[in-house]
Amino acid sequence: MSERLLYEGKAKRIFATDEEGVLLHRYKDDATAFNAQKRGSWVGKGRTNATMSAALFKFLESRGVATHFIEQVDDETIKTKKLQMLPVEVIVRNVAAGSLAKRLGYEEGTPLKSTIIELCYKSDELGDPMFNWYHFREVGVADEELKRCEEIGLGVNELLYPFFDEKGVLLVDFKIEVGRDEGGELMLADEISPDTCRFWDKESGEKLDKDRFRQDMGGVEQAYEEMLRRVTHMGPMGTME
Ligand code: ADP
Ligand code: UDP
Repeated sequence: MSERLLYEGKAKRIFATDEEGVLLHRYKDDATAFNAQKRGSWVGKGRTNATMSAALFKFLESRGVATHFIEQVDDETIKTKKLQMLPVEVIVRNVAAGSLAKRLGYEEGTPLKSTIIELCYKSDELGDPMFNWYHFREVGVADEELKRCEEIGLGVNELLYPFFDEKGVLLVDFKIEVGRDEGGELMLADEISPDTCRFWDKESGEKLDKDRFRQDMGGVEQAYEEMLRRVTHMGPMGTME
């Protein structure tokens, strides 16, 4: 199968193939944080993130969520539908952490009264600012599209929160992206991995995600491996049925 590089991002390379409307996402071993001001890399990151994303997309599909996922083709590569992406990052939060803890003046770890959704405009130049619906109209994203983004985010949270809970993990928050397929349907895209979620061990509170890299905590490789192990090997819900 021939491959043509379409886009090189911070964490993945996206290729077109001979198949019309199909993309390959090859996950890199690179990590970035703070709008790419901090950079790093470790062997195995591409594999853990590709494999975890594949497992979670499969799980969500099996529970009725439409996603771009087609199949995992090798350790670091997944095949997806090609979508027209919305320039939106949908952040879903169950517990205060990161920028939300700062915004609300809460201590990290404070549970939220109800799930909070934040919508950010995907723009490296602007640093992915939080936008309201009026700002989004200005950049050509319609209210209906944002409503659907919120529904998809909440639906994914309702499935993933108990999924991770069963594996002894608190799903603190996560980011998803949404795109439109050729038939016009908006669906879940991009990735779901320790790069895009905050995972805390329920017992010890230990961080098992990219915050270990952001905060130079060490043990980042082991944390990603541990999360992959829990997602793919533990509990009746998580195994790849
Ligand atoms: P970034 O662009 O932030 O550096 P990545 O390295 O993860 O991020 O690059 C992946 C790119 O592919 C992102 O721009 C993302 O919006 C886009 N993308 C994800 N899923 C799809 C899809 N199914 N179709 C088209 N583009 C996608
Ligand atoms: N997130 C992401 N990509 C981004 C911004 C945030 O995947 O460009 C994820 C992040 O990993 C966390 C959640 O979204 O799980 C909320 O992030 P927050 O707004 O707290 O940003 P941070 O403080 O991590 O920069």
